[in-house]
Amino acid sequence: MATALEERAAALERLRSETFDLMVVGAGIIGARVALEAALTGARVALVEARDFGGATSSASSKLVHGGLRYLQLYDFALVREAHRERRMLQERLAPHLVRPLTFLLPVFRGAPHGAPTVAAGMLTYAALSGFRHSSISMVGASGARQLVPSLRTERLVAAAVFQDAQTHDSRLVLATVAAAKRAGAVVANHLPITGLETAGGRLAAGCAGDLLIRSRAVVNAAGPWVDQVRRLEDPAAEPMARLSKGVHVVLDLPAEHWGAALTTPLPGGRVTFAAPWEGMLLLGTTDTEYSGDPGLVRAEPEEVRTVLGEAAVALPAQVLARDRVRYSFAGLRVLPRGGGSTARTHREELMETGPAGMVSVAGGKLTTHRQIAVRVLRRLEAFRGARPTSDPLPGAGPLPPRPASVPPETWSHLTHLYGTEVLEVLGGGDGTPIHPSGPDVWAQVEYAVDREWALTVEDVLRRRTTVEVRGLATPEVRQAVAATLGERGVFKTVDES
Ligand SMILES: Cc1cc2nc3c(=O)[nH]c(=O)nc-3n(C[C@H](O)[C@H](O)[C@H](O)COP(=O)(O)OP(=O)(O)OC[C@H]3O[C@@H](n4cnc5c(N)ncnc54)[C@H](O)[C@@H]3O)c2cc1C
Repeated sequence: MATALEERAAALERLRSETFDLMVVGAGIIGARVALEAALTGARVALVEARDFGGATSSASSKLVHGGLRYLQLYDFALVREAHRERRMLQERLAPHLVRPLTFLLPVFRGAPHGAPTVAAGMLTYAALSGFRHSSISMVGASGARQLVPSLRTERLVAAAVFQDAQTHDSRLVLATVAAAKRAGAVVANHLPITGLETAGGRLAAGCAGDLLIRSRAVVNAAGPWVDQVRRLEDPAAEPMARLSKGVHVVLDLPAEHWGAALTTPLPGGRVTFAAPWEGMLLLGTTDTEYSGDPGLVRAEPEEVRTVLGEAAVALPAQVLARDRVRYSFAGLRVLPRGGGSTARTHREELMETGPAGMVSVAGGKLTTHRQIAVRVLRRLEAFRGARPTSDPLPGAGPLPPRPASVPPETWSHLTHLYGTEVLEVLGGGDGTPIHPSGPDVWAQVEYAVDREWALTVEDVLRRRTTVEVRGLATPEVRQAVAATLGERGVFKTVDES
């Protein structure tokens, strides 16, 4: 088998020498799916990512695969219906290992923005928009609510609604999609920024990554928060189409009592604060504030972490939210259409535009509906007018092999969630020595990340291919050891970028 270095050299050589039908700029979840859908039509496709696959918004989401209850208050019924359909497709067929059902509890407190009858009516609409499939709903009192979420504050609780949605590991979903695109024939490369675009006869003809020229008959710009920067490579006079809104999340220790549901609590102004069990921890989110800085520098600031903890306190007691329970925090950027109004009240559908030389730019939308967005993008291009969403299972989807006796059940459960059917290839015959004694990730994942999953930096391994960093376990010793593994394999970027 070719080494990681040989694979990368071969991919760069193909980018240099072939002419593509489509080049996709940006490999978040949208770009990755555009590349996959296009490659499945038999087209020659190049997928080029400036940082890491899923390295921006698509690893900083709330991890929900959901109908989007909050869009009901914007009367965005079509979006909710489509999202429900896509949730089912991901959960049942495309990636059941990565997209799992999650029960939600929506508490109604005295003085809340919506009373219990309004919430009950909203729930009924939400379930109806899913065709009453996978969306069983009920209203419960304080004791029913605490059975599901034992930590819930009930002093001012009037009632609570229970409903179903789903949750994922967002960056691994991107990686599975990139792997599928590659298996369908696409040439994929991360850490390769597109720095220029060339035209011939007024139409786009090539992209430049430094001095590497990638010839392509069509280009999709799926650069997320950088969408306007890439648009200006085609048309320096292009007016911006996007504005950015920052969302901060905080990861904490999960309380010892079993949580049978996630919490989503409406806040004044149309936002919600949520608290969801995720990867054995508690994920809280999220803020929603205008952002105008460099997208590459977005960070969770201490005061934003305090805001997230403060808003969660509406539904959770102080001991659950204590500062010493915080393990990690991260920030992402929503891409919204330009124009006035609060970012919380803005519709979350994708932005799409075709530029003067034929480049189709896309940004925004939802992780949940990425498959439909990808096809809507492709249909804007002459060569892909007839594209229809495909539904082949992603790598890892399918019946799991039996657990080898040498692998502890917790390790097996963690690895089968992240890798599905490919778990034995990841383990490579080993039993799984932990990367950090307090976490479920194992060393075999590091080797797999470098050899098979295009990891080129310590951050690629610890933040997006494993769960080490989000657990707050990326200690200097762990980083050093991972850097040594990268170095042993001769991978060119052994220096952490963060
Ligand atoms: C705080 C927050 C919470 C969210 N929660 C949810 C949720 O729970 N559920 C849900 O369904 N959706 C959610 N979303 C929305 C969802 O995360 C996004 O819609 C989705 O991730 C967007 O993916 P993308 O591929 O368009 O962008 P990105 O993931 O940002 O990908 C764009 C990529 O383009 C690359 N790029 C930029 N410039 C260049 C260049 N010049 N050359 C090459 N590559 C380039 C970037 O490096 C980046 O990797 C959330 C979003 C935010 C911000």
